Amino acid sequence: MRAMGIMGGTFDPIHYGHLLAAEAAREALGLEEIWFVPCGQPALPKAEPPCAGHHRYSMTVLATVTHPQFRVSRVELDRPGPSYAVDTVRFFRTEVAPEAEWYFITGADALAQLPEWYEYRTLLHLCHFVAVTRPGYDAEEFRQQLAAEIAPQVQTLRTPGVDISSSEIRERVRTGRSIRYLTPDPVAAYIYKHRLYLAG
Ligand code: ATP
Ligand code: MG
Repeated sequence: MRAMGIMGGTFDPIHYGHLLAAEAAREALGLEEIWFVPCGQPALPKAEPPCAGHHRYSMTVLATVTHPQFRVSRVELDRPGPSYAVDTVRFFRTEVAPEAEWYFITGADALAQLPEWYEYRTLLHLCHFVAVTRPGYDAEEFRQQLAAEIAPQVQTLRTPGVDISSSEIRERVRTGRSIRYLTPDPVAAYIYKHRLYLAG
């Protein structure tokens, strides 16, 4: 049975936390490919609107281009309306690999919000939901807080956690501090070239 992964996110910008989480999940779960899916319109409100989708897409491509099993999808960017994971998983199941088992990978923090996700119960029927280590969040504790019938459909995975966030990268760029080793060099170069994240 093929096993495939989806890593959703705003990727504003993508960083080593995302990449390490995906790679650890790929290895632990034996995933053949991981699809990075930058969101179009975030389904849950963010503190600030994300930068243009084409920039987030380009940075995600730059960050993943050297990995033979990492791929980037425009499916959420090209779909009008809010980006719901359930629609995305349906798309991959029908259009990309109907015969595969699909794993939706998130960081531990996302698990706390899962009950707010649109049609999350359907989502859990369509794919395996995996929450990996993210420093500062206890995935297992969040899992146990889920309703009793939901918790068994979610798995947590211990991975080498790195405490990096896109918000911190944006803040660092805004205040002229270094982002080296937080995100791949081509992503940092892209940010400076296109003068992203300078306005507060
Ligand atoms: P922001 O600070 O803007 O919220 P972020 O760093 O949390 O950005 P997102 O694009 O919101 O990045 O996250 C996409 C997915 O990646 C989510 O499932 C999130 O839990 C996960 N993720 C982000 N950073 C890490 C990290 N350092 N370790 C593990 N998972 C992470
Ligand atoms: Mg986040």
